[in-house]
Amino acid sequence: MFADDFARRLLAWFDHHGRHDLPWQREATPYRVWISEIMLQQTQVAVVVPYFERFMARFPDLASLAAADLDEVLHRWSGLGYYARARHLHRTARLIVADHQGRFPQRIEALEALPGIGRSTAGAILSLALGQHHPILDGNCKRVLARCFAISGWPGHSAVLARLWALAEALTPVARVAAFNQAMMDLGATLCTRAKPACQACPLAERCQALARDAVSTYPAPKPRKQTPPRAVQLLLIRDPDDRLLLQRRPPVGIWGGLWTPPEIGLEESAEAWCRARLDASVLHLEKRPSRRHTFSHFQLEMRPVQVRLATQPTRVADEAAMTWIEPAAPGDLGLPAPIARLLTELGAETAIARQEEPG
Ligand code: SF4
Repeated sequence: MFADDFARRLLAWFDHHGRHDLPWQREATPYRVWISEIMLQQTQVAVVVPYFERFMARFPDLASLAAADLDEVLHRWSGLGYYARARHLHRTARLIVADHQGRFPQRIEALEALPGIGRSTAGAILSLALGQHHPILDGNCKRVLARCFAISGWPGHSAVLARLWALAEALTPVARVAAFNQAMMDLGATLCTRAKPACQACPLAERCQALARDAVSTYPAPKPRKQTPPRAVQLLLIRDPDDRLLLQRRPPVGIWGGLWTPPEIGLEESAEAWCRARLDASVLHLEKRPSRRHTFSHFQLEMRPVQVRLATQPTRVADEAAMTWIEPAAPGDLGLPAPIARLLTELGAETAIARQEEPG
């Protein structure tokens, strides 16, 4: 039967060439596999490993994650991007404590009902940690299957996705399910890569329809592109007379939700008016700084920083819980998006130089 042959080839390759010593494989509990699976969405293994180790050192189990402040979880996530993943982790940990007595659900329907856990992640947790028979379909698996079976169309379209899931179900064996699922991910990550797949070393080459058609690069079809114009905002680098910088916590939903950034206003809005309304303070000096861009999955953000020096110490701060003054060189344990962390490092270095140059 074809499925048997597929699994046999893949597992024989995995036994010799697959990855067997990743940190989450060493002690494959549902909690550890869950954290690794969420980190691995959109991020490569080599980047994830040190984040995973640090995360586990601070949050070794579900209870410690559930008990932590969201701010600290976001702080530990800083640099991995796609922060909704960290917010979902935290919410899910609390839901498991509240609704499942702190024990990881072991039924796939219960897992899929939790924030941030889709069918593939639930299947990965239960198969890799507990050996339950569930297929997975992450980005790597989609690519392998789309090529091997010459499935045309973008995998994000529901009809294409349904075909890929049907293949994954048919091919996933009952025996050695954890090894098979790990092998699918490893093959996609190491041989059947997006660019320049190593087909000559692939255990599926004889069976691969895309290779037989000399059309590997056309599978899977890319996402249809919508042109989205960059969104431009002003980033207010507000400095008080002590040279501290104002940060504001962003709303929980939307880009960088729950993280801390300098206040952001529209291009047509006035920095002076913002300072008057929110800080009851007047502005001594404004300085525009070079703009910088950040690419999100669905649009580009152009940030135009404006350094704003206040004439006096603000006597009140509107929405005080969501604002904080920091030393740019030492922002503490705040959750910061990576581009803002870089900006603070630059500001901190400038401040240090300016202080050295001040007459003593
Ligand atoms: S033969 Fe090439 S394209 Fe086909 S599954 Fe293997 S690596 Fe991917």
